[in-house]
Formats: sequence, structure tokens, C-alpha cells
Amino acid sequence: MSETKKRILITGGAGFIGSHLAEGLLQRGEEVFVIDDLSTGNIKNIAHLKKNKNFHFAKGTVLDRGKVSNLVKKADQIYHLAAAVGVKTIMEKPLKSLLNNLKGAETVFEVAAYRKVPVLFTSTSEVYGKNTDIPFREDSDRVYGSAYNTRWGYGMSKGVDEFLALAYFKERKLPVVIVRLFNVIGPRQSGAYGMVVPRFIRQALQRKPLTVYGNGYQTRCFANVSDVTPALIKLINSPKAYGQIFNLGSDEEITIKELAQKVRMITGSQSKISFIPYAKAYGPGFEEMMQRKPDLSKIRKAIGYEPKITLEESLKEIIDYEKK
Ligand code: UDP
Repeated sequence: MSETKKRILITGGAGFIGSHLAEGLLQRGEEVFVIDDLSTGNIKNIAHLKKNKNFHFAKGTVLDRGKVSNLVKKADQIYHLAAAVGVKTIMEKPLKSLLNNLKGAETVFEVAAYRKVPVLFTSTSEVYGKNTDIPFREDSDRVYGSAYNTRWGYGMSKGVDEFLALAYFKERKLPVVIVRLFNVIGPRQSGAYGMVVPRFIRQALQRKPLTVYGNGYQTRCFANVSDVTPALIKLINSPKAYGQIFNLGSDEEITIKELAQKVRMITGSQSKISFIPYAKAYGPGFEEMMQRKPDLSKIRKAIGYEPKITLEESLKEIIDYEKK
């Protein structure tokens, strides 16, 4: 519980991560304001919070400058999470995704800068693009492919948002911290936008084939949302973090094929594993990152971050949730 109640704005607070963050902040006794256009967020994610007198929800988009401005006026801190989510979304709706990511962040940073309200901006491990120098450090190169390949627009747009955040920090003294999230998982995550873990779990529980894209040798590191949200709260409350970029997630690496096998084993499902070519999953010319792993030394040093929940524990938790 904090000494004086803070008023906190979460853009995208009806999304998977935003709703867990809202829960964590309410538990600390803070007052939480959420703005979400419910495009990929879901009112069900926050239904259980609506009874709390410290929780307020406004349906709206971060492109609505007037609405954002009114909310920012009331806020002591802002978490800017509202953005296009998932590879599938960017592949299917590139224009909306790009405009949301670029204009949304610009609106929030600009309005926040007038009053120097601290902002935490959630970026993504996609910004590293197809860099193969593993693990990714915050100062690693960002390597993107051709402009004809829609996927890179997502990482590039979030990458431009990072430049904007740093420029607002430097020239307008906006206290802003940038967090690059690596594959966060947990209850309430939707499988509708690509996310592999909820997809495999639902497929296994419904006895449908587990759809591994490509040969399944690509790797990812999956972090539990319950490890991630306390770290976000610590970072925004650490003035030393302002003007800095942090990787956040897990560094326990697994291939997608092994992930599929693990899900099959833990659910006891008889589902087959079927391998789907990327072109079929995402369209021709799709490019994959074969390995994605963060170097977490910077965040470990800054806030003593240590992910506690193993992948196996996370999978069991999500399987239990999905069964209900
Ligand atoms: N993936 C898969 N089957 C699916 C969905 C995703 O094999 O049904 C793969 C995807 O190609 C990627 C990994 O799982 O290699 C993680 O995908 P996700 O969309 O969850 O996140 P990404 O790390 O690609 O942003």
C-alpha cells in the first residue's frame, strides 16, 4: 500500500497485460483510470475490477487528444500500453496498427510532457527485428527487413515511438521509461492475435492439432505476467530509470516445437502436432525471427528483477484458467 494514493492512467488497460497491471495497482491502494477502445482489449478482462471504487473505465481511443488530455490532467503517472497487439493484427490491419502505434504514442507523450507526468511506455522485443546477435541488449542494433514485408512495420513503429520518447525526455524533460516486453503470457491472454501459448493450450484442450509454424526450431522466452507487472510498477517509480530502455521478460529459452510437446504433455492431450508453412499462416514473404532472448542484466541491476515463475508453472496456471 502506498503512503498517498496515486492516480494512475493506463492506456490499453482492458488488454491482457493492462488488466493485470490495473489489478496490481488497485491492490496497492492506487486509483486507476483506464482508457481502452476495446479493439483487442476486452471488457471481460476488467469486469471484476468495476466494483472497486478506485477503478474507472473510459471507452475511447488514444487518438482522441481531448479525451487523453482530460485523463492526463488527473493523472500522477501514466502507463502507455494501448497499441496494436500480435503479429496477426499487424499482418491483417497494417494501417490501423501503424496509426495507433505512432499517433497514439505521440499524443500521450505530448500531452504528458505539458505537466511532466511520468510515463512508462511498453515497447516490444520486435524492435530488435531480425538481429541474430543473441541475447539482445538494450543497445543492440535494430535490424529490419524490406518495407514490402508488413511484419517489420510493427517493430519499426514501436522503434520510432522509442525515439520519440527519448526525444521528449531530452528536449521537453518528460520523465519517461521504455520497457521492451518479451513474450508475456498468463491467464486472460487471447489467442486471436497470433499469441502461441493460448493458441496451443486451446488446441490441446479441444483435441485439435497444435499448429506449429515453420519447422518449430525458432525459440522464444515466455514470462509470466505476474512477474512482469510488479517490474513495471518498480520502474515507473524509479526516477533513475527515466530516459532509459529496459528489456523485460524471461531468459528461459525454448523452441516452439518443444513448447507444443510440453503443452501436450501437461494437458495429457492426444492432439497431433502439425507443421504449417509460414506462408500459409501469415501470407507469402513472411519473415521469422529464429531466436529471441533478452539480456536481462540491466533490469536485474536497476530494480533487482528476477522472474520467479517457470514456464511449466505458467502453462499449468493458464491450462487451469482455460479449463474453467
Ligand atoms: N506460432 C506457432 N503457432 C501458432 C502461433 C504462433 O508456431 O499458432 C509461433 C510463431 O511463428 C512464433 C512463435 O510461435 O515463432 C511465437 O509467436 P507469437 O505470435 O506468440 O509471438 P512473436 O514472438 O512471434 O511475436
